[in-house]
Amino acid sequence: MPRKCGSCGVKNAILKRPKTGDALCKECFYWAFEEEIHHTVLQAKLFSPGETVAIGASGGKDSTVLAHTMKVLNERHNYGLKLILLSVDEGITGYRDDSLETVKRNQQQYDLPLTIVSYEELYGWTMDAIVKQIGLKNNCTFCGVFRRQALDRGAMMLGADKIVTGHNADDIAETVIMNVLRGDIARLRRCTAITTGTDGYLPRCKPFKYTYEKEIVMYAYFKKLDYFSTECIYSPNAYRGFARAYIKDLEKIRPSAIIDIIHSGESMQVKKEVRMPTQTTCTRCHYISSNEVCKACVMLEGLNKGRPRLGIGKIHKERRKWDEELAAQGKLQTVDGGGTDSGNVQVADGETESSAGNEQRTCSGVCSGVC
Ligand code: SF4
Ligand code: ZN
Repeated sequence: MPRKCGSCGVKNAILKRPKTGDALCKECFYWAFEEEIHHTVLQAKLFSPGETVAIGASGGKDSTVLAHTMKVLNERHNYGLKLILLSVDEGITGYRDDSLETVKRNQQQYDLPLTIVSYEELYGWTMDAIVKQIGLKNNCTFCGVFRRQALDRGAMMLGADKIVTGHNADDIAETVIMNVLRGDIARLRRCTAITTGTDGYLPRCKPFKYTYEKEIVMYAYFKKLDYFSTECIYSPNAYRGFARAYIKDLEKIRPSAIIDIIHSGESMQVKKEVRMPTQTTCTRCHYISSNEVCKACVMLEGLNKGRPRLGIGKIHKERRKWDEELAAQGKLQTVDGGGTDSGNVQVADGETESSAGNEQRTCSGVCSGVC
């Protein structure tokens, strides 16, 4: 005999929630999923009435479910928000052009305004052109740094008060593990924050902080949401992929592993004596930075001069040359090692050399364009 839904007791259960193990009918699952996100929004006081919120939309499952859920909750609970879809076109033929078609359909389906900003118009480079110059080794470092800034710039252009992204509980747990393994205290301290960037121009919020990826997939599947599921063609087999596999293994013996890791990350305290990078403004683009010249500008300089290694890797002779040029212009700042134990190094944006040079720093192809 079919099992009844554990919540309403009327309809037949058709799924087992990965997060709680409850057997539920579709409608009760939708309600539980949406109301848990509402609870997270209220607990963290993510929004205030009247705010304009830019939803980072890539057409992938996370951001599509985010746009759908934000719209549902905004109407159901009278958040009083003006919602806007904001997409970044990295210029990846055969990937982003297709996923942006999905976002354009989402715009119609959810009746939300859509703005697309592109790397080409902001930086004069597409990812296709960048990969042509640098190859497939550090492409995600460029892409992640540029995307972060592009989202901020787009949102500022739209007069948004906040940005929301579709980062989910699995993404955050992976980031905690990666930062522990790297000993990156500065990032470890902030990677579990539900809102970041409050010291910068625009706060960024993660309403899916406690939402399991499996449940996002289930929600999108049962609701028949229109999303794009192909992986980026430049996606490397990155460190994040190993962190992900490790957590999946842990989940087999401890189903609450994802939430446990997030809670552990939240509970970690950083000693007051550990120095963190201080925020300033880039002297070139005026974007927030931990150094006089931001990472995006260093990378752009490298690309434009045909010296792409300027923005990546360990201290390289190209970088040293540029540091000398900047020092001669009185523009180089020496930054303490960003709170890690790797000592004092000169870097472009306050990261340590070890972290700045790691291509998996920003995204591993599982970002769906939201990181
Ligand atoms: Fe950019 Fe993500 Fe593709 Fe890397 S995997 S190139 S960060 S879209
Ligand atoms: Zn800059």
